[in-house]
This record gives sequence, C-alpha cells and structure tokens, in this order.
Amino acid sequence: MARVNIPTFKLNDGRDIPVLGYGTWLGMDEDFEFSAAGMPKMNEALSYAIDIGYRHIDTAHLYRMEPEVGKIVNKKIQDGVVKREELFITTKVWHHYHREADVEVSVRDSLRRLNLDYVDLVLMHWPMSISQEGVDEKIDYLETWRGFEIVQQKGLAKSIGVSNFNLDQMKRLLANCKVPPAVNQVEINLNLGQKDLVDFCSTHKVLTVAYSPFGTMVPSRSAPNSPEPKLNNPTMVAIAKKYGKTVTQVTLRYLYERGIITIPKTVTLSRVLENASIFDFNLDKDDIEKLAEFDNGYRTVRPIFWQDYENYPFDKVPGKMDIPEALRIWKNGMNLDID
Ligand code: NDP
Repeated sequence: MARVNIPTFKLNDGRDIPVLGYGTWLGMDEDFEFSAAGMPKMNEALSYAIDIGYRHIDTAHLYRMEPEVGKIVNKKIQDGVVKREELFITTKVWHHYHREADVEVSVRDSLRRLNLDYVDLVLMHWPMSISQEGVDEKIDYLETWRGFEIVQQKGLAKSIGVSNFNLDQMKRLLANCKVPPAVNQVEINLNLGQKDLVDFCSTHKVLTVAYSPFGTMVPSRSAPNSPEPKLNNPTMVAIAKKYGKTVTQVTLRYLYERGIITIPKTVTLSRVLENASIFDFNLDKDDIEKLAEFDNGYRTVRPIFWQDYENYPFDKVPGKMDIPEALRIWKNGMNLDID
C-alpha cells in the first residue's frame, strides 16, 4: 500500500501538529440540510487515510461525523495500525455552548461520541454565541475562552484554539487570556490569502490552519461568477506541469510553504493520496509570486445569515437573511448517536 509521510509543525504549547489533516465536513444541501449521504464514502476514505499515514483528523460537533470518526479511529487502534498518541484529533464547540461552564459539557459530549478520553485540539468554532432558537446570546468570547482553559487544565483537550477569529478578535483574545490559542482555523486559499491575519498570528506563535484550501477551484465550491483559478486555469496547469504535480497539489504545497496547515476534505480515495503527496518538491520563487497574484480577498465561506449577530467576524453585505431552521435546530439529524 502507498504511504505518505506528513511533517509536523510545533504548537505554542510544545506539542506537534501534522501539517496536513483529513477534513470531515460533508457540507449542506441548498436547503441547509446536512448532507449525510456521503458518510459511507467518507468512512471508507478516512479509514484509507489512516492506513496510508494521515494522523491529523479535523472534525466538529456540527459535522455529525464524531461517532463515525470515533469508530474508525478506535478500530485502527485496536487493529494496531496506529497508536492513540500518534493521532491528532481536533473537534469544535458550536455556538450553543459559549457559556464558560457549557464548554466542558460540549467537550465531554464530543468525547462520548468519539469514544475517546481526550482530543488533541478543541476549537471555538465561531466567535458568535447563538442559542438553538437563533437568539443572539451576546456572550463574550473571552468568557467562552475561560471555559477552554478549564477543559485543557482538566486534560479533556491537550491543546485549545479558535476558528473564524478576525484580526481584531485575535488581538483582543491574546491580550486577555491566560493560555494563548494554539491555532486559529480560518478560510485560506489562493483567492483568500489573509496575509495580515496569518502574519499577526505567526508573530504571536499562533499557527494558522486553512479550511476550504481549494476555495472555489473545485466544482463543488464553484459559485457562479467566482474568480479564477479553477482546475483548468492555464497558469495553474502550467505550474503543475512543471513540477509533475496536479493543480490541487500545487495549491496545498503553496499553503504549506507559507507555514499554513491544511485540512482538505475528499471522499475520493485517489485524492486522499494525491493531497498528501506534496512533500517531495519546492516551488520556485517566480511561481510563488504568480500564485500570490490570485489573492483578491474573495470568500468561499460567507455565512451572511449570521451577519447581524454580535462578533460576526467578516465584512457584512447589505440586506438581511433569517437564520435557516436547519441551522438552528441542527441536532435532530440523520445520525442517531447525536443527541
Ligand atoms: P476543500 O477545499 O477541502 O474542498 C473539498 C472539495 O474538494 C470536495 O468537493 C472534494 O471532492 C474536492 N477535492 C478534494 N481534493 C481534491 C483533489 N485533489 N482534486 C480535485 N478535487 C478535490 O473544502 P472544505 O470546505 O471541505 O474544507 C476542508 C475542511 O475544513 C472541512 O472538511 C472541515 O474539516 C474544515 N472546515 C472548517 C470550517 C470552520 O468553520 N472551521 C469551515 C469549512 C470547513 P470529493 O470529496 O468529491 O473528492
């Protein structure tokens, strides 16, 4: 069987994090209902990923994949494929659990669904706090962060971090915390370089994890009128050809060379291998410059239905959209292990 050897970066708490992980968000359909149909294929792909050497898995309470991840991981440990301490498992706390004491409730529930004693990293999924009914709870993320510090002290999560924090929110959190976040997980891809945020985090020893690393390059994310590059973009194709790699591999390599961790999602076995086969080449300076030119600030993930909530981290667009029912009462889903 093929094998991949994924390097690690050092977190500010001294632990190692593999620079590439397996993302487990299956997405939503146009009615904001969770796409559970892809679960069997994801289970197969995740199992294969661990077999070939992936050690970092990115999941979340939201994704409904925690029970599946737990079953696969525990089976691999039982079968002697991997040891628990070799794995790096991340989960996330959702909007409904932002009171200090509720963070521990959420993390313990995640551990029960994962059937694990600890996670390697737990993230505050977003800085907003929203009740299941869609009410803005206006809980300061500094209060929520104190709950994160407690779950780390209790050993439920080895490392703690945040997600979707903007520059001002990172500055405020770092100025007002006992334990600094180990990572900020945000969207980064060729269209959205987030240089200021990444540089600030790097200066303060906070690693950046890139979600949606392909942006709108891939058909599933390619919104009408979304900018280049797509998979057939001539500049990208030429660069990829030069190194004997694919356009997606060049993209992941570029982010790695910027010091950014990536967590691409794929349910396709060949792509599981392809995405992690990026550690055997270096991009030339002129190619890096060409890739940087695609940065135009375009966001692939833009949850405008949350834009009127306190601490929404992105620029607002005119107009208002009600929070969809499926996003408010999201727990009663396909996966019966979620309660
Ligand atoms: P990605 O950029 O990982 O894109 C996923 C899409 O790319 C899928 O349609 C997949 O297709 C396709 N794909 C994957 N590899 C290749 C390849 N080599 N060639 C061509 N197409 C490919 O986007 P995601 O939004 O899924 O982000 C990745 C992960 O980040 C998520 O799974 C989740 O873990 C995390 N995330 C976190 C968020 C947060 O708020 N913190 C928000 C969004 C994501 P297929 O599966 O059919 O192969």
